[in-house]
Amino acid sequence: MIPVNTPLLSGNEKQYLLECIETGWISSEGPFIKKFEEEFSKYVDRRFGIAVSNGSAGLDIAFKALDLGEGDEVIAPTFTIISPIQSIVTAGAIPVLVDSDPLTWNMDVSQLEAKITPRTKAILVVHIYGLPVDMDPILELCEKHGLYLIEDAAEMHGQTYNGRKCGSFGTISTFSFYPNKHITTGEGGMIVTNDEKLSERCKKLRNLAFEPKGRRFVHEELGWNYRMTNMQAALGLAQLEKIHSHIVKKREIGMAYQEGLKNLKGFQLPLARTNYAENIYWVFGLVAETQELCEQTVKKLNDQQIGTRPFFWCMHEQPIFQKMGLFINEYYPVAEKMARNGFYLPSGLGLAPADISEVLKSLL
Ligand SMILES: *Cc1c(COP(=O)(O)O)cnc(C)c1O
Repeated sequence: MIPVNTPLLSGNEKQYLLECIETGWISSEGPFIKKFEEEFSKYVDRRFGIAVSNGSAGLDIAFKALDLGEGDEVIAPTFTIISPIQSIVTAGAIPVLVDSDPLTWNMDVSQLEAKITPRTKAILVVHIYGLPVDMDPILELCEKHGLYLIEDAAEMHGQTYNGRKCGSFGTISTFSFYPNKHITTGEGGMIVTNDEKLSERCKKLRNLAFEPKGRRFVHEELGWNYRMTNMQAALGLAQLEKIHSHIVKKREIGMAYQEGLKNLKGFQLPLARTNYAENIYWVFGLVAETQELCEQTVKKLNDQQIGTRPFFWCMHEQPIFQKMGLFINEYYPVAEKMARNGFYLPSGLGLAPADISEVLKSLL
């Protein structure tokens, strides 16, 4: 069996975890947390990092920290994991969707301006699969219309846009450290920002909104327990020491698939590069010309014990949002085709060259 993802835990993970157990620091108090926050935020060129229990938690905190709520519109891609859209909806704000670019698979930035209304408060960017969103036009729009930028950089550890780190663009940016990301803490996430006040607010919201100065157990507002443990941070720190080699390895996997599949008929491969970035191959996706070809190919791979995942399912086609009366009669043809015809191959850091050959053999 070749799983769709296997993590790589080949550095100081064991040693740092052992240290947690030997010192008894296993909760969200403990020295690795602050260290991981400092090192990671420095790595992505931000002043502040707030470690959280997962990437989705970070997004919940981000929208609340910016006081986005009832009546506020947030422009967002329809082609994404549900996390950021769920955070918008549960905050009481309204997601306003845009379609995808058929080549980069990211949100089509040319569709953004037409969606801006007097109620628009923010743009949500989600960098998809390995290439960053084209940021310059978005930064310009945010500046021109006074909008917040929330950046979901969960799939982009170490990726750059025109030389600037992904995660360095948002008013608030978030990362996930789920085991299929470039570095992992098992479960975990990080909020990063340059704004000290926002950073303090995020810290408060992750900790049940305990008042930092007031009497303990007296609350002025509601938050969550979204704290990261010292054990997760220990893993994170060890992984961060290796991040460069992880990125190199992901790119090697990506290039091996590109080379091996360059003559494959009936499928669109990921772009290796744009004029602002080299693909970091969080996952290696394929989009079939037809849904039938996609389904046949996935079945063939799975029959040969090769793991795959379908692409994201569009937000405007989610039964739960339809039930809530959202996105009725909205259509985004590019994203709909990607969702139906797209899947990705085993792309994890634990993948061996022999596994790649095996996958290629089954596809060709
Ligand atoms: C993985 C991922 C998340 C969710 O992160 P969790 O840590 O699993 O909650 C959010 N956004 C994107 C784009 C992701 O890829």
